[in-house]
Amino acid sequence: MKNQVAVLPLNGNGNGHYSTQLKMVDPNEIYDPHFESLVQQMLVRVGEDPEREGLQRTPLRVAKAMDFLTSGYSASLDDVLNDALFEAESQELVLVKDIEFYSLCEHHMLPFFGKAHVGYLPNAKIIGLSKIARLVDLFARRLQVQERLTSQVADTLLEVLDARGVAVVIEASHFCMMMRGVQKQNSSTVTSAMRGVFQDDAQLRQEFMQLIRA
Ligand SMILES: [Zn+2]
Repeated sequence: MKNQVAVLPLNGNGNGHYSTQLKMVDPNEIYDPHFESLVQQMLVRVGEDPEREGLQRTPLRVAKAMDFLTSGYSASLDDVLNDALFEAESQELVLVKDIEFYSLCEHHMLPFFGKAHVGYLPNAKIIGLSKIARLVDLFARRLQVQERLTSQVADTLLEVLDARGVAVVIEASHFCMMMRGVQKQNSSTVTSAMRGVFQDDAQLRQEFMQLIRA
């Protein structure tokens, strides 16, 4: 059962017409009636007719899409790691570059997307490489700010691996800057989180930065 969302009362401005029931195109395909009702009301508020053909199933689609895009709230760290921790055979740097990710900014609920670069210096444990990408998704599929996403990935990895150090750099483009506001389509935002030895050792940090630029 999905979390129930209270349906907000409409205090509309009289545009369009209100329909409080989601029109059932296929009654078996109601996914999350409360959420779908909210989306339908949103369509009315932006001046649309939610009953017109192209929009009839939009609340359903949006509910499903939002469920996926925020699935990081319900996924657990244990599921993601799924016993994929192994004994470290060396203590050399492990670096996964260019991890593609998609997230939603918590200020506008608009997408931001880009690449994450994640490196760590193991202590006794290493983690399956694909799990690092899944860890990024775990935190990206929530409402986020880029800074928090960056530090959550770094802090979690540091903790689960008890690593000597973790370095995370994220480069992203934000739709809330590209489509609205300052409309800077080509700007990208870079955030970094350095933990453990990466925090203390400038040379190591520099090495990491060179490797991700290479
Ligand atoms: Zn934003």
